[in-house]
Amino acid sequence: MDPAADAPAPVPPALRDAVLAWYDATGRELAFRATSDPYAVLVSELMAQQTQALRAAEAWTGWMDRFPSVEALAAAPVADVLRAWAGLGYNRRAVHLHRAAKVIVAEHGGRVPSSVAELEALPGVGPYTARAVAAIAFGQPVGAVDVNVKRVLGRMAAGGPEAFTPAAIQALADASVPVDRAGAWTHALMDVGQRVCRPRRPNCADCPAIAWCAYAAGVRPTSGPIDRPAARPRRPEPAFESTNRWLRGRIVQRARDATGWVPFVDGIGEHGPGAVRAAVVALSRDGLLEIRETPTGVEARLPR
Ligand code: SF4
Repeated sequence: MDPAADAPAPVPPALRDAVLAWYDATGRELAFRATSDPYAVLVSELMAQQTQALRAAEAWTGWMDRFPSVEALAAAPVADVLRAWAGLGYNRRAVHLHRAAKVIVAEHGGRVPSSVAELEALPGVGPYTARAVAAIAFGQPVGAVDVNVKRVLGRMAAGGPEAFTPAAIQALADASVPVDRAGAWTHALMDVGQRVCRPRRPNCADCPAIAWCAYAAGVRPTSGPIDRPAARPRRPEPAFESTNRWLRGRIVQRARDATGWVPFVDGIGEHGPGAVRAAVVALSRDGLLEIRETPTGVEARLPR
């Protein structure tokens, strides 16, 4: 395989067969993998974006009971949608999913569009999610490339993802998809990346791709097409409680637990009253809260 070529050689059929056989025999049984319904797949892919797959699968089951169709989701109040999202984190994804449902009903007659371009135009749907939905729900031979897939394919083909430009890894991913099992291949590559081809110390001995893998054969990219700056010393990560993400999560949680307006006049954790107010206002701009000013400060609730 020529790693830097614009049109890389296809992944050997024997490698694909081995990975798919491994997936068929040992793939994780996540609830959402049993369906190819486009709405259900869209929900699962948005949930799994930044949440552990097992947790997303649990939440997905409850979500599909609560909002069984795209019309049911589009008609629901935002407050109900945010409550159903509890425990998944990154609440903005719930608002995006709700907005996407409204667009699908208004502009696509209630049917999730099948083209990558139309999927990417939906709120909250980026290149990875659009291709994952196109492959899993519609069987299209498009490769969904996230950091896991980039690492797996990069190692298989050239000993590491550093050898590839973004366009080349996308071309390789697209060329790797078997036309008759696009969805299974998408799930299988994800499992390889999470279960054996981990970022540090890949477990090649247990990997179905070992016989064809450049990394396992000792190949390492000597240089890549991307000029990377010299690594800077890592700064220690700030404590999670001091981050804006933590604060936003606490504020939404308080609003979620309440039935009416909640005053936000004091600090929360390490964040002072000014930072709390700024976060509340930002959350209302993002559509996650309604706010009103009172003589003592700002109050908020989930949008009606
Ligand atoms: S053989 Fe090793 S490096 Fe290659 S894909 Fe499998 S786990 Fe990753």
